[in-house]
Amino acid sequence: MIIGVLKASSPCITFVFNIRVIMAMKELKTDYLIIGSGAMGMAFADTLLSDTDHSMIIVDRYALPGGHWNKAYPFVTLHQPSHFYGVASTELSSGKKDEIGWNKGLFELASGSEVLAYFNKVMTQRLLPSGRVQYFPKCSYQGDYEFVSNLSGDRYKVDVTKKIVDATHLNTKVPSTHTPNFKIEADVQFIPLNNLVNITDAPEGYVVIGGGKTGIDACLWLLQTGVNPDKITWVKSRDAWLLNRLKTQPTVEFFEHSIGAQADQVESIANAKSADDLFLKLEENGIFLRIDKNIKPSMFHGATISEMELEQINRIKHIVRLGRVKHLKGNEIVLDNGTIPTSKNHIHVDCSATPLENINPVAIFQGDRIIPQTIRSYQPVFSSSMVAHIEALYPNDEKKKNQLCQVVPIPDRDTDWIQMTAINMMNQFQWNQDKELRRWMADNRLDGFGKIVKEVDKTDPKVIAVLSKFRDNAMGAAMNLQRMIGEM
Ligand SMILES: Cc1cc2nc3c(=O)[nH]c(=O)nc-3n(C[C@H](O)[C@H](O)[C@H](O)COP(=O)(O)OP(=O)(O)OC[C@H]3O[C@@H](n4cnc5c(N)ncnc54)[C@H](O)[C@@H]3O)c2cc1C
Repeated sequence: MIIGVLKASSPCITFVFNIRVIMAMKELKTDYLIIGSGAMGMAFADTLLSDTDHSMIIVDRYALPGGHWNKAYPFVTLHQPSHFYGVASTELSSGKKDEIGWNKGLFELASGSEVLAYFNKVMTQRLLPSGRVQYFPKCSYQGDYEFVSNLSGDRYKVDVTKKIVDATHLNTKVPSTHTPNFKIEADVQFIPLNNLVNITDAPEGYVVIGGGKTGIDACLWLLQTGVNPDKITWVKSRDAWLLNRLKTQPTVEFFEHSIGAQADQVESIANAKSADDLFLKLEENGIFLRIDKNIKPSMFHGATISEMELEQINRIKHIVRLGRVKHLKGNEIVLDNGTIPTSKNHIHVDCSATPLENINPVAIFQGDRIIPQTIRSYQPVFSSSMVAHIEALYPNDEKKKNQLCQVVPIPDRDTDWIQMTAINMMNQFQWNQDKELRRWMADNRLDGFGKIVKEVDKTDPKVIAVLSKFRDNAMGAAMNLQRMIGEM
């Protein structure tokens, strides 16, 4: 039912009346109703399609599948290799390494438009032709198995014979849909990151607000396009530990970096005396990076960066660490712990949105509801694919499914890395005990590291040394993580 309210007024009369348009509710039937065609919803649908013969309806308020990538800034890319991203059935990566730029020598990072084109292809060339999937773009789910088309106004009621899948829980925030939490005077030039590409007249300087991956992307793009680093002021309320992209490469050629880093990581954890000691060990092993060796990071969001990008970003010398911005004025920026000068001729770039923030982990399997979340750290799409597989594998054993799918919380503070890694290891340990899950993971293209271990020459002494280091330290690492969690 649409309720229209029309107000009319004249000097002598004011009246309000309602127009009530009764629209018939259209009825649909499906096994699984999936809310959200972002990366999580798509990865879930794709695996459910492979593993079952169930039907699905996918609803999303955006016009195209791909979720937040619809709203991304034009120069956005994945920050991990494309190999690990997308849905299990369909490769995203071309298999090429970058030959130019600051990711040179490492595997390609799909751009935002490539990711969007990819998800559209998955929808139109795989999900829909199966005849078991129906897709309703530009439709908002309103609860109670009902959704409405934002274009036609048509309303739908779905008879769901199995489950509803809420693939919106991660609530990803991107700069273009984010409202800053500080005051901005009207005469200040303040833009979301997306508008950086629309600048036509060079300003006096740029002030990038936000120390996370988005802020890094803004700074790197400005440098890449030739802006003098001295013209950039970077305001960051916290420093972050970053992941070294060299250690996330998906092929055997990088065995010593990728799997070597996994082995170094468990050894570092097993031997760490404290959280700070652990982070320094991870840095010594080249797994963690930071912008400034003199600043102790207090944040960890899993942002991944190459060593060349780090080198570039370090050309920016004007970094402001005075807490959060409170007020942006025409001539100064007021922060928690001081003020800095600015001008109306400076462009202030908003990078203060945190993509995944304040997510409360909830049980993934809740009766007739599934809420896909991360069950392997840094791997949301692998996680969602695995949640679908476990749903298909053990349809009637809720307890087992939740045991196998403990939510790996999204980290915010540096020390959150410890809890995240502990649950990650526990999940992996449980999966390894399950023969069918082991087989499934080995065949899943999203399980990039598993594939490296499967393909590597296990008679090579260097390989043996790495795998032994991993095995010898795994138990000690798990116990030491628990000790550190207890102390925290
Ligand atoms: C810049 C950036 C780079 C990233 N790089 C990587 C990477 O390299 N590797 C990696 O693994 N991950 C990466 N990620 C994370 C990953 O892409 C996903 O962002 C994450 O898993 C969240 O996806 P999602 O599907 O949960 O959320 P979203 O993309 O936000 O999708 C949720 C969908 O739900 C829809 N929706 C919400 N409410 C409703 C409603 N009521 N009715 C209808 N539809 C609704 C929305 O329209 C949206 O399409 C990156 C993220 C960002 C922001």
